[in-house]
Amino acid sequence: MSKRTLPPAMIGIIGGGQLGRMMAISAKQMGYKIAALEPALGGPLSQVADLEINAEYDDKQALTKLLSSADVSTYEFENISSEAIQEVATADNLPQGHRPLYITQHRLKEKTAINDCGFQTAPFMSVTTEAELHEAVAKIGYPSILKTVRGGYDGKGQWQLNSDADLEKVKAVIQDQECILEGFVKFSKEMSVIVTRNASGDVEAFPAIENIHKNHILHISIAPARIGEELALKADQLARQLIKGLDFVGTLAIEMFVVGDDIVINELAPRPHNSGHVTIDACNVSQFDQHIRSVCDLPLVKPEFITPGIMVNLLGQHVEYALNMWQKPEFAGAKLHLYGKDELKRNRKVGHINFINSDSDELEKTVERFLVDFPD
Ligand code: AMP
Repeated sequence: MSKRTLPPAMIGIIGGGQLGRMMAISAKQMGYKIAALEPALGGPLSQVADLEINAEYDDKQALTKLLSSADVSTYEFENISSEAIQEVATADNLPQGHRPLYITQHRLKEKTAINDCGFQTAPFMSVTTEAELHEAVAKIGYPSILKTVRGGYDGKGQWQLNSDADLEKVKAVIQDQECILEGFVKFSKEMSVIVTRNASGDVEAFPAIENIHKNHILHISIAPARIGEELALKADQLARQLIKGLDFVGTLAIEMFVVGDDIVINELAPRPHNSGHVTIDACNVSQFDQHIRSVCDLPLVKPEFITPGIMVNLLGQHVEYALNMWQKPEFAGAKLHLYGKDELKRNRKVGHINFINSDSDELEKTVERFLVDFPD
């Protein structure tokens, strides 16, 4: 039997970044208290937490302390030792368990799991030696993308290969780390679906959100995605079937490529996702509210966009610009979210701004005007 956790219980969060902070803000609005486990002192989550434990994520003693201080716990990112979690956590104190971490922190396991559930990914092959690289290139062809199986994000840990001439530059990478070669998908659009499942098995999915990247980092998310009804339905069904097929609890963000009328899955994240931040201001329930509900095994809300919304990600170099623009009356309705990071580092995500408007055309025009001199 699953365990329902009601306020004012304490929720533990492993990981101390902005996703944890926004989970905590949602949880506090619902009357919960928050304990945080993260290595550094005073990060974005700790600033809003009731209890802070500073230790590495694979420190089993610290994990045990968090799990026993809180009534129920969750994680806010996927690169936490799944072995340590498996050892110290139970279905009662961490309903998501270690499997979502084990699968999504390793690209090969992730793609295999997606295929096993009956869904499409880019063609891929494991690459651990130069000979395997040549074999994979012979099968998959060019263009293709070599990715490290672990730890890549925002385009880091990946190299596009266009011809044999590019093989030389990735030789050293293969010697160092296990990799995967993926076929290059010629997509018309990138989008994501955020789907949530609680321990009792309820599943709810947010409508697909369209994503536009700049320099491999998410730049804007347009919600709902500008796609036809059939594709929207396909994305919704895929998301529901995938989270059930994987038997995950919690939030699953599914990054997708649209190819004609088909969907190819790029990658998964077992947590709320950057593209879902627009749900905070545009939906009846945010991805963070829904995540907390799933972890506490509360009934899930059927998510709906009450208005179209667009999120613009703010990197360190964008904050001053955004603050100046925000004071202009035409952008007064926008909602600014800053994460309390201790430095405004270039190319690091430090906040986002959500624009909402019931008229999608007007919304897009407003965002275009906002972005007119957006720094690179
Ligand atoms: P990832 O770190 O796997 O999410 O990749 C970051 C971005 O690189 C994606 O959002 C895509 O824009 C692009 N990308 C990754 N894999 C592929 C692929 N197999 N084919 C085409 N573009 C890709």
